[in-house]
Amino acid sequence: MKIISATIHAVRFPLREPFIISYATYPDMPAVILKLETDTGLVGYGEAVPDEHVTGEYFLSAYEVLKEILVPSIIGENPFNIEEIHHKMDAAIWGNPAAKAAIDIACYDLMGKATGQPVYNLLGGQAHDKLEYPRVLSIEAPEIMADKAVKAVRDGYSSLKLKVGKGDPMDDVARIKAVRKAVGPEFPIRVDVNQGWRTPGVAAAAIRELEGENLKWIEQPIRMGDIRGLADVRRKVAVPVMADETLHGMEELHEIVRLEAADVLNIKLMKCGGIFPAVHIAKAAEAAGLQCQVGSMVESSVASSAGYHVVMSRANIQSAELTGPLLFSEEIGDLKYELPEVLLSGEPGLGIEVDEAQLEKLTVKKDEVGLAGRAS
Ligand SMILES: [Mg+2]
Repeated sequence: MKIISATIHAVRFPLREPFIISYATYPDMPAVILKLETDTGLVGYGEAVPDEHVTGEYFLSAYEVLKEILVPSIIGENPFNIEEIHHKMDAAIWGNPAAKAAIDIACYDLMGKATGQPVYNLLGGQAHDKLEYPRVLSIEAPEIMADKAVKAVRDGYSSLKLKVGKGDPMDDVARIKAVRKAVGPEFPIRVDVNQGWRTPGVAAAAIRELEGENLKWIEQPIRMGDIRGLADVRRKVAVPVMADETLHGMEELHEIVRLEAADVLNIKLMKCGGIFPAVHIAKAAEAAGLQCQVGSMVESSVASSAGYHVVMSRANIQSAELTGPLLFSEEIGDLKYELPEVLLSGEPGLGIEVDEAQLEKLTVKKDEVGLAGRAS
């Protein structure tokens, strides 16, 4: 099997309501959908959802990088040669993990379709009985977040993820305490600060206020480049610390382990470059005694299902937060969410159907790259 051409779509996924986190507000979610075509007639789908604040990529930059550099670098390759494909991509351009993830995911979709197996069976099989997902609450006033939390519990969610990290950290403490009070002492709550508490001293002071709130963990309390600072926070508080933006690939993992900077890692395909590197990170983390979760950049069924296949295949990935399809008012895939679980279909590849008409409808720009290696 050989990759002979690719169609690259820049799309905008409309959101049901704006997604608000500490460093950005998104009215809709721009992404790139990649379709790899092979000489066997099989096609594989991939997706890039760049977060400009985390990897420095933008959806139109990822689009151009795919069109001009990455796709031409892997045309003619067999998608099973994923190690070689990653080496070729890394030799063609440094960084750009979301754009690389699009190719990686499409290759796994092809491998699965060619072998008649769901992707998780190519990675490690089924390490979990079920895959659950939390209700993610945007940053709002304490009473609004508390009301939404109560509704989520009533709807059947099994955990909550609270976005905080905007304004005065003590306002965040009030948000978290209001939600905890509303849902009772035991309901699983995780908190994501998205770097919003900036410095170790401020973060440690805020977390100390939360030590009686029974939180599963506090995610990325300080700015992403400060791994030593994260270790500092971790030493000063009793709540487990999760690294998200701080962790991109193996280099950061090495530093996090060396400095004992986190208890839990949030792996994202868009930060590390796809399924292949994500599995490697999880495996290396296991050797260091760290638990992992797979998160997302608010991705459609394409990249979200890719993330769930990784989760399914690894025992030390104990949580997943890929809820993009639930946040979109229009989508292109059919990954199945049945509260509180996500159900992978077990069909070959990613196990989803991509609605081509819907993809065309949401496309704002499109190109084809053929065997000659240039846009046609
Ligand atoms: Mg996060």
